[in-house]
Amino acid sequence: MNTDSHGQRQPLARYSDSELLPLSAVQHYVFCPRQCALIHIEHQWSENRITAEGRAMHDRVDRPEHEMRDGVRMEYAVPIRSLRLGLVGKADVVEFHPDGSILPVEHKRGRPKPDHCDWVQLCAQAICLEEMLSTRIEEGAMFYGQPRRRQRVVFTPELRAETENTARAVHELILSGNTPLPDYDRKKCAACSLLDICMPKKRQRVSKYLADTFSEDDKS
Ligand code: SF4
Repeated sequence: MNTDSHGQRQPLARYSDSELLPLSAVQHYVFCPRQCALIHIEHQWSENRITAEGRAMHDRVDRPEHEMRDGVRMEYAVPIRSLRLGLVGKADVVEFHPDGSILPVEHKRGRPKPDHCDWVQLCAQAICLEEMLSTRIEEGAMFYGQPRRRQRVVFTPELRAETENTARAVHELILSGNTPLPDYDRKKCAACSLLDICMPKKRQRVSKYLADTFSEDDKS
């Protein structure tokens, strides 16, 4: 273990530069492991209205630049990485406040999601920044487009542990090279940009048919 400038214990690096995965994969994995595999193993991507609008919103915070607002230094499109989590990506906005606190802020087009996959992504950004700046980051914020509002996210020990475990699971999944079968969820799948590629209902019917057929064969 190392210690950072605040005396916090920082586990040693687990990954090398060549093993780093896109940070967005943790959000995809929490949303649906199959979606994560389709994007990061099979390199499938389909842009629907939600992702297109989200990308347009992101384009505004994707140009590296900075500005001062009310004494707060705002850095945009900040490159980040963590050798401990094995992740690399960009933080939309990082705020440097006069009291020394640092806040990552992630922008999303839509509403806050029923699950907390955005929080895990934000916490992964915070862990990257902690590792790079040898500091401690207690909280960050999500900025949602509908309605336009900012939501505070505290990096609790539970959220940190979930983020670490998710990063590890993403590495295992991608190393395995195996895409999990679909687990159909009407609400979640309806919002998924890969619905047409995944075909979760059809695939579930086929795998059930095959399972039933082989179990009948075993009995005969
Ligand atoms: S359609 Fe559903 S099961 Fe398929 S990848 Fe998307 S969320 Fe996962």
